[in-house]
Amino acid sequence: MGDDEKFKLKKYLTQPDMKLGSDDKPLVKETLQVGVDALATMQDILYAQDRWSLLVIFQAMDAAGKDGAIKHVMSGVNPQGCQVSSFKAPSAEDLDHDFLWRCQKHLPERGRIGIFNRSYYEEVLVVRVHENILKAQKLPKKLITEDIWEERFKDIRNFEKYLARNGTIVIKIFLNVSKDEQKKRFIERVDDPDKNWKFSSADARERKYWDSYMEAYDEMIRQTSTKESPWYVIPADNKPYARIAVASAIINALERMDLEYPKVSKEKIAELNEIKKELLAEK
Ligand code: ATP
Ligand code: MG
Repeated sequence: MGDDEKFKLKKYLTQPDMKLGSDDKPLVKETLQVGVDALATMQDILYAQDRWSLLVIFQAMDAAGKDGAIKHVMSGVNPQGCQVSSFKAPSAEDLDHDFLWRCQKHLPERGRIGIFNRSYYEEVLVVRVHENILKAQKLPKKLITEDIWEERFKDIRNFEKYLARNGTIVIKIFLNVSKDEQKKRFIERVDDPDKNWKFSSADARERKYWDSYMEAYDEMIRQTSTKESPWYVIPADNKPYARIAVASAIINALERMDLEYPKVSKEKIAELNEIKKELLAEK
């Protein structure tokens, strides 16, 4: 592939026609509600069937709207069938294991939807952007070579394929916020006292590495988007647009499973009718 044809995130930022404004509010609300309801129905079948599971991974730069998207899109789903796990800097115990270990512990059970707010993908992002983090990973020295990122991409592809073969479908969502929009949202977090808690100097520091992050993301998406486990790159400068797109991506993944309520045998139906008869006969 020539350099011009290579996947680049900057080609998939929010365009003017994706800007849903206040006039579109009723339509946005209705469309998102249709998505939220569809998700709730599909999740109910997923749970009853108890065969497949879905893992939805969210990755993004700070202030891209991961938390809001998760909150809104999953708002209709039965909390019993859904679990959100957030991955921050690894603990000492995490660093005593291979890089997938801490995420594996949070994989969704059959019939459930698992949401990862950040994930093992940080291992080819923040760890790649900051050399000192890799150094602190306690890996044997001779395993740290220039091939390490290629090796990690391969390990991730294989891991996701393995999960797919076992009934856990993995989809990955990247919320593609622009550098300008991030700046706007950071300033809002300073100006609005209710948002102060969301902001830290560490976030502002990471912003200085924007270009390195974009390069790492571009390559990660090129290397780990597969037929079974695609990346959905969602333009994220307009939050309503992004949330609707996130709901569609998750619905799309669930549609690829053969979801149906378990069929009940004739004997079981007869048994249920017998129980009903007894209940009705109760004095
Ligand atoms: P928020 O929206 O609340 O800021 P967040 O996901 O950014 O949510 P933070 O506590 O700000 O949460 O940050 C998590 C930090 O942990 C990120 O900077 C991320 O890059 C870092 N992190 C995640 N996984 C790893 C890892 N494997 N190694 C090093 N740092 C990691
Ligand atoms: Mg943060």
